[in-house]
Amino acid sequence: MNVTYRCPHCDAVASAELTEPAGDFSCTACQTAIHPPAGAIREGKVLQCLICPCQELYVRKDFSQTVGIGIIAIGFIISSVFWFYRMPLWTYGTLFATAIIDLVLYVTVGNVLQCYQCQAQYRGIKELEQHEGFDLETHEKHRQQQIRLARAGVGASSQLPPVRE
Ligand SMILES: [Zn+2]
Ligand SMILES: [Zn+2]
Repeated sequence: MNVTYRCPHCDAVASAELTEPAGDFSCTACQTAIHPPAGAIREGKVLQCLICPCQELYVRKDFSQTVGIGIIAIGFIISSVFWFYRMPLWTYGTLFATAIIDLVLYVTVGNVLQCYQCQAQYRGIKELEQHEGFDLETHEKHRQQQIRLARAGVGASSQLPPVRE
C-alpha cells in the first residue's frame, strides 16, 4: 500500500510506500520526516491518517474529475467539427462514444481512501469497501475547522497596532 500526500512542511506532493506497522518516512522533496501515529495501520487497514492525523477517512473512486470533464470536452469539440460539416451521425456518434469512454473508465478504476482533513490518498489497502463513502456533513465540519484554524493563525501572527480615536 502507498500514500500520496501534500507535505505539511514544504507543500510538495509526495508519495511513500507503507509498511505495517507504519514506520517513519520522509518527504521526497524536502526530506522532512513524517512520524505516523502508532497503530494507524492494523491488519492491512488504515484506521487513521498518517499525515495529519485525522481519524475520519472516506472511500471514493480513484477517478480524476478533470480527466472525466476533459474527455467530454474533447468529444464535444470533435462533434462540433462533424456538425459543422453536416455529418449528424458522426456528431452523435462522437458524443455517445465519449460518454461511454467516461463510463467505462469510471467503472474500471479502483477505489482510493482519502483523508477529510489533509486530502492524503491511500491506495492498495485491504477491505477498502468497509470504509464509509464521502459524507458532506463530515467534509463541511473539517472545512469549517480549517477556516477557523487559518483565521486563528492570521490573528496570532499579525501584530496590528491598536486603533487610535
Ligand atoms: Zn516536504
Ligand atoms: Zn490527513
